[in-house]
Amino acid sequence: MSPEAHHLRSVPDPVRAELDGAHRSVVVVGGGQAGLSVSRVLADRGIDHLVLESKTAGHEWADRRWDSFCLVTPNWQCALPGFAYDGPDPDGFMVREEITEYLEKFVASFDPPLVEGVRATSLRARAGGTFQLDTDRGTLTADQVVVATGPYQVPRTPRMAERLPDSVVQLHSSQYRNAEQLPEGAVLVVGTGQSGCQIAEDLHLAGRTVHLATGTAPRVARFYRGRDCVAWLSDMGTYTKGIDAFADAEAVRHKTNHYVTGRDGGRDIDLRRFALEGMRLHGRLHRIGDDGALHFGPELRANLDGADAVAEGIKDSIDAYIEANGIDAPVEERRAPVWAPERDAAETVAAEDVVAVIWATGYGRDDRWIELPIFDGRGYPTHERGVTSQPGLYFVGLPWQYTWGSGRFSGVAADAEYLVDRITETRRGTVADGLHWLAGTPSSTFPSDDDWVAPRSAS
Ligand SMILES: Cc1cc2nc3c(=O)[nH]c(=O)nc-3n(C[C@H](O)[C@H](O)[C@H](O)COP(=O)(O)OP(=O)(O)OC[C@H]3O[C@@H](n4cnc5c(N)ncnc54)[C@H](O)[C@@H]3O)c2cc1C
Repeated sequence: MSPEAHHLRSVPDPVRAELDGAHRSVVVVGGGQAGLSVSRVLADRGIDHLVLESKTAGHEWADRRWDSFCLVTPNWQCALPGFAYDGPDPDGFMVREEITEYLEKFVASFDPPLVEGVRATSLRARAGGTFQLDTDRGTLTADQVVVATGPYQVPRTPRMAERLPDSVVQLHSSQYRNAEQLPEGAVLVVGTGQSGCQIAEDLHLAGRTVHLATGTAPRVARFYRGRDCVAWLSDMGTYTKGIDAFADAEAVRHKTNHYVTGRDGGRDIDLRRFALEGMRLHGRLHRIGDDGALHFGPELRANLDGADAVAEGIKDSIDAYIEANGIDAPVEERRAPVWAPERDAAETVAAEDVVAVIWATGYGRDDRWIELPIFDGRGYPTHERGVTSQPGLYFVGLPWQYTWGSGRFSGVAADAEYLVDRITETRRGTVADGLHWLAGTPSSTFPSDDDWVAPRSAS
């Protein structure tokens, strides 16, 4: 299904109008894969509920990805509850339209009580332990609420963006679609997380001159010793390891993803090779001068070496696993880096040397509508496996909510099952003893305004 064809599901207006004054055992806020997964498990157990979605189910995939987007994780990891991928290419990587089609089919498979085009605008506790949810279509009440509003909500762009001259087109990665969207000329991509690397590659393949400001994101090889690294790591239990097994759980939760791509059947993203082919790699973008000049730090070598060290370390652990288990797998030589910077020097690029900047600088959350004391000092909801300290309030779909797969297709089914178990216990009034809460410190739920700026549009 093309993004243009991704219309609001035809919920008759009277149904939306009936929301005002309605009460449900459970209301799920957010109709992406996480909210829909919880809905599927609730439906399987006969628990009455409603899913509120401000736009259209799964719209993130349809509307906030670039044209050549494809999954980084293999299709076999798409295992929504009762709806594992069963297409012809389990080791392949679905493209944007295939992902939205997979979600459409998931919705059709159980016909959830989904109401699209309704935004939850505030959530409060009521006397007696229930919840009041204000929406732009009226006020509902619920015994329990699941927040499934997505891991990547508000595009984040550093405020230095304001210092670029108006002649430079600026987009956040969520707004990037293709090279033709940008004027002719060189493009700077800021950030080497998954989005930054893939967008830089997309522009590079389109023949654009690309400047890439690197960061400290790690990388992983696509294939090693005859298999996708994801397959090895899955066998090694990496993706089902709970966050409580890590000494530095908070650090793990906020780490950047490894860069690699599923494009054209999957391959490494080797920035060094891009450099050989003409891409201009830089260190971190430190500041923009009064004249709009772009000042990069001297960290390029360290950033490339750091990313490679992680990739090689992952290969080491795969080797160890193969050896420990006596697995017959082809031996693969390690490759030497194909390029390195000549010197570790800061660099400057004049503003007039780039026509556009793509800020692949990530996302923040906006939970200001949740008027409950569950947030930590940085505005992150405190929880244990998605269960908050507010009885009856849950989150689903957070990155590393419990496992690596929590914020992805692979782990959300297990989280949904876990949460619906807790929801069921709470309904019976049998919340298990022994749950201990991470401190819920009432605090600002939104980072300082200084850290945020809306990107200017390309038009
Ligand atoms: C660039 C990119 C690439 C990714 N690649 C992969 C990959 O290869 N494999 C993988 O497994 N995962 C990947 N992910 C991660 C993850 O699978 C997606 O982010 C996915 O969209 C998360 O699903 P979700 O349901 O948790 O959240 P979302 O898809 O963000 O859904 C949340 C929904 O809540 C709605 N909503 C928000 N606020 C409200 C409100 N107040 N009231 C009502 N509705 C509201 C939104 O409209 C949205 O539809 C990627 C993410 C990004 C950003």
